[in-house]
Amino acid sequence: MKLLVTGGAGYVGSVCAARLVEEGHEVVVVDDLSTGHADAVPDGATFVQADLAEAADDLLADGVDGVLHFAAKSLVGESMTDPAKYWDGNVVTSLRLLAAVHRHQVPRLVFSSTAATYGEPEQVPIPESAPTRPTNTYGATKLAIDHAITSYANAHGLAAVSLRYFNVAGAHGRFGERHAVETHLIPLVLQVALEQRPKVSIYGEDWPTEDGTCVRDYIHVTDLADAHLLALKHATAGEHRIYNLGNGTGFSVKQVIDACRLVTGHPIPAELAPRRAGDPATLVAAADRARDELGWKPERPDLETIVADAWRFTQGRTK
Ligand code: UDP
Repeated sequence: MKLLVTGGAGYVGSVCAARLVEEGHEVVVVDDLSTGHADAVPDGATFVQADLAEAADDLLADGVDGVLHFAAKSLVGESMTDPAKYWDGNVVTSLRLLAAVHRHQVPRLVFSSTAATYGEPEQVPIPESAPTRPTNTYGATKLAIDHAITSYANAHGLAAVSLRYFNVAGAHGRFGERHAVETHLIPLVLQVALEQRPKVSIYGEDWPTEDGTCVRDYIHVTDLADAHLLALKHATAGEHRIYNLGNGTGFSVKQVIDACRLVTGHPIPAELAPRRAGDPATLVAAADRARDELGWKPERPDLETIVADAWRFTQGRTK
């Protein structure tokens, strides 16, 4: 297929673009490089550096078989202090993209949604049928885009899939996580192991969980990318399907730090810090729908494997 990958110079986008190229698809990556890296675009993909909202029409004019839409602002904390950046950067841009998708009769769309659309869960593991009450602006913008996609599928026959990621981690060969401002737990802990920072903060030890620290469902980025390939294949005209992507197992912040100690052999000093605003205590996916309907099977669900791949990437090794 000929595919447009938006945000393909970012972490998840670059891994998906790499997997699509590996599978023989013709891939065009568009990215404004506001947070991505040009050298993360895989060999074999065509790279266009552009503002997506402005370039969408030109990029789709020649006809494409599908769009994988990753381009987004994705820092929860920043979304609370600078909401305009998220409503414009995520929602307005995506509405422009959707209008162009419709104008140029693109048949399918796979969208990078998030567990943050659910907010504080009533039920764990969280099924796709759970109420969507995001507790932060980032999640609210992703949910708004999900609603717009549903409308386009219903009205115009778009074959659409939204994939709601839980905590993505790990690396795929030379493609991994490198954010200018790092806020995610595993890369931060690994920076301590590399002695780029002295210690890691644990955001609260008084959560209603077994060891008092927050529990998350970590998923390997290669498994995540593979779900996108399956979503492309199974997308059905006129339907907007939503799938959670996680392993269904929760690990606490302390368990993650312990796994990092084991993998790196570094003592990784940790200190207690106040809770971070907007953090739910526990987020774990019920991902049976993706397994049943897409035939998705995570190959790397083990936390130590995920951390080991992230560690290899962090050290600058690709094998
Ligand atoms: N966390 C932490 N210290 C840090 C960064 C994160 O204790 O320096 C916690 C955070 O409160 C959350 C979990 O680790 O409970 C995962 O956070 P991350 O930002 O990686 O992902 P999120 O779940 O927010 O998407």
